Amino acid sequence: MIASAEKVEEKLYFDRFVVDAGRPHIRVKPHTTPSPELRAMIHLCPAGCYSAGTDGVVEISPDGCLECGTCRIVTRLTGEIEWNYPRGGFGILYKFG
Ligand code: SF4
Repeated sequence: MIASAEKVEEKLYFDRFVVDAGRPHIRVKPHTTPSPELRAMIHLCPAGCYSAGTDGVVEISPDGCLECGTCRIVTRLTGEIEWNYPRGGFGILYKFG
């Protein structure tokens, strides 16, 4: 039996994120028309880091990124993002494992 049906947003509350101001660890490369893979990240990213501007360009705000690697894998063939782990001392801090 499943003990709880918590929402992802409720679970994310338990994590802490240290922002490396001015040094985002993931960047979306300049583009005019995003690939379907990049557009899909708006719905796939569990932390909601991706969004679309009014011009259709996909943007990322990696604050709160879980470092799950989903966007790195989904866009690996399109090459539209630059993905790195945050510098030491920055990024996600999991409180429960
Ligand atoms: Fe979102 Fe995961 Fe990519 Fe971070 S690594 S931006 S949490 S999909």
